[in-house]
Amino acid sequence: MPVLKADFGACQGYANCVAGAPDAYDIDDDGVVVLLKEQVPEGDLPRLREAARSCPVSALTIEDA
Ligand code: SF4
Repeated sequence: MPVLKADFGACQGYANCVAGAPDAYDIDDDGVVVLLKEQVPEGDLPRLREAARSCPVSALTIEDA
């Protein structure tokens, strides 16, 4: 099952990802993305890929596992 990954050092807290997929991404008190799930069901993949692509600093990826 595909797995969510984040480059926490690159994240700038723009929150585009939270807007696109609030079930998968959140922002902590320091303005850094938090992954709310690890594995991505196939049915959620298109939506979560779109949310990951919306990150202005390309901090989010979805890896095939
Ligand atoms: S869109 Fe990118 S920079 Fe913005 S909070 Fe999400 S991971 Fe961080």
